[in-house]
Amino acid sequence: MLDKIKHIILVLSGKGGVGKSTVSTQLALTLSESGYRTGLLDIDLCGPSVPYLLGIEDKDVHQCDEGWVPVYTGVDKKLAVMSIGFLLKSRTDAVIWRGPKKTAMIRQFLNDVNWDELDYLIIDTPPGTSDEHITVMECLKETKTDGAILVTTPQEISLEDVRKEVTFCKKTGIPIVGIIENMSGFVCPNCTECTNIFSSGGGEALAEIAKVPLLGVLPIDPRVGNLAGTGLACIKELPDCTTSKVLTNIVKTI
Ligand code: ADP
Repeated sequence: MLDKIKHIILVLSGKGGVGKSTVSTQLALTLSESGYRTGLLDIDLCGPSVPYLLGIEDKDVHQCDEGWVPVYTGVDKKLAVMSIGFLLKSRTDAVIWRGPKKTAMIRQFLNDVNWDELDYLIIDTPPGTSDEHITVMECLKETKTDGAILVTTPQEISLEDVRKEVTFCKKTGIPIVGIIENMSGFVCPNCTECTNIFSSGGGEALAEIAKVPLLGVLPIDPRVGNLAGTGLACIKELPDCTTSKVLTNIVKTI
């Protein structure tokens, strides 16, 4: 069912906790609000956080003759979302599967979800380069895939792992759309001074070395974290939100 999708973009990160799912979710919402027909597929089977981030954990997917029907959310319910989180009985259920079962699930997600016509499908992957990534790359080989967006924080330890992602993409022939540096600096809400809590410029330096575009730099914004799980998920609603502005610009370039 991927033949009805114009652009497929994978979101990868070397480490967990760098904001990969937040970026995937907000990018998908921004695309949807910019008028693109958008789907968001969460293949982080062991840590599916997309339903939580969007405040739609209580929703169920159901089967129709054409396959699974995704959950629709966002403004005017236009964003189509699929995640294993919708198939678990409770939030605390754990997916303890070996490779072949994970592979089968991802194949089902890619082949059996009735996505309708989409301009963009954003795929949120688990951190690292594991079974899930290899499966998704194999499944997408015959499909026109735009490539991968790599998310990192400015710390050297996160950048180090994202270098491995660059190598992985090059080895598996997945084009790199670009790098997003997240949690880069904190702007004090009182004095508006920006403090680089971790460090700065790492994403830019990595983009230069790897010869891939730096798509944008997103600051630490507690409002972004606070929106998670509230169902008021879109940062576009936040006043003076740099993250929203940067993602809107990214949408124009991908
Ligand atoms: P990952 O998918 O890489 O594991 P998440 O997207 O789940 O990371 O983000 C981890 C936590 O950090 C979440 O609580 C999220 O709300 C928060 N977070 C992510 N990016 C930002 C940001 N730019 N500013 C503030 N909080 C953020």
